[in-house]
Amino acid sequence: FGRLKAGLSKTRNNFVSKISSIFSRTNIDDDLYEELEETLIQADVGVRTTMELIDKMKAEVEEKEITEPEELYKSFQAEIKRILIADDEELPLATDWEGLKVLMVVGVNGAGKTTTIAKLANRYQDNGKKVLLAAGDTFRAGAIDQLKVWGNRLGVDVIAQSEGADAAAVAYDAVQAAKSRDVDLLIIDTAGRLHTQKNLMDELQKVRRVVGREAGEERVETLLVLDATTGQNALNQADLFNKSVDVDGVALTKLDGTARGGIVIAVRNELGLPVRLIGVGEAADDLQDFKPEDFVEALFT
Ligand code: GDP
Repeated sequence: FGRLKAGLSKTRNNFVSKISSIFSRTNIDDDLYEELEETLIQADVGVRTTMELIDKMKAEVEEKEITEPEELYKSFQAEIKRILIADDEELPLATDWEGLKVLMVVGVNGAGKTTTIAKLANRYQDNGKKVLLAAGDTFRAGAIDQLKVWGNRLGVDVIAQSEGADAAAVAYDAVQAAKSRDVDLLIIDTAGRLHTQKNLMDELQKVRRVVGREAGEERVETLLVLDATTGQNALNQADLFNKSVDVDGVALTKLDGTARGGIVIAVRNELGLPVRLIGVGEAADDLQDFKPEDFVEALFT
C-alpha cells in the first residue's frame, strides 16, 4: 500500500490536491462544479465520465440536501469507487483454473508488455503453475532475445522462431508445446509496432484466431498493456486493440509517471474495460493487482 501511495504521488500532488481544494470551498455553487469539471478533464478522466460525475454530484446535493462541500467530497469519492469496482467478473488470471490457460498480451512497443509478462510468469510460477512463454513479437529487433533473457532468469521455457517469422505460426507451435508439456499458463507476447497499424491488427487477429482454435476459445484471455503517461492516446489505442482482439482486461503501466491518474477511471468507464494491473514504478513489485478500494484510498487519504 505504501508503494501504491508513493507511486501515485504525482497524481496525488496535482489532481487530488486540486480536487480537495475545490471541495474545501465554503459553498456548493456553479463555480465549484465548473472547477471540478475542468480539473477532471485535465486529469484524463474523460469528458463523458466527467459529465456523469458532475450530474451525479448535483443529484446527490438535491436528494440528500447536502450543503457542505466537505460532505459532497465524500459522495464524490464513493462515486469514483463505484465506477472502478467492476461487477463481480472473474479476474483474468484468477488464482485457480484447470487445464491450459492462454494469455495473449497486446499493446504498443514501450508500454510495458515485457515487464508485465515477466511479472505474471514469475507470479504464477510461484503459485505452482507451469508457465510457458511464446515470443510472438517477431517484428521488433531484439524482442525475441529479450523474452529469452527473461525465460532464462525465471527458469521458464520460451517458444520462439527467428525474427520475421509468422507470429501466428509461433503461437500455433506454442499452443501445441503447451498441450504436450501439460502447461497451465501460456503467455504470448505480441508485436506492438504502431506505424503499420492495419498490418498489426491483422496479425493480432490471426494470432488470436489460431490460439482460440488450437486451445479452445474459452481458454484464451487478452490483456492490453497501456502506458498511462500517453493519456488520450492510450485510450484511442485501447479502442483499436479492443476492436481487433476483444480485450478482457487492461494493465495500466507508468502511473507513477503521470499527474493525470484519472485515466484509470476513463479506462473503466469510457471504454468499459476492467483495469486488472497497475504499474507504479520500475521495480518488480511495482506492478500490482488493481484493487479499486485501495486505489481510491491511496488517492484520497
Ligand atoms: P514493451 O516494449 O511493451 O515490452 O515495454 P517494456 O516492458 O520493455 O517496458 C518499457 C519501459 O518502461 C522499461 O524501461 C520499463 O522498465 C518501463 N516501465 C514499465 N512499467 C513501468 C511502470 O509502471 N513505471 C515506470 N516508471 N516504468 C515502467
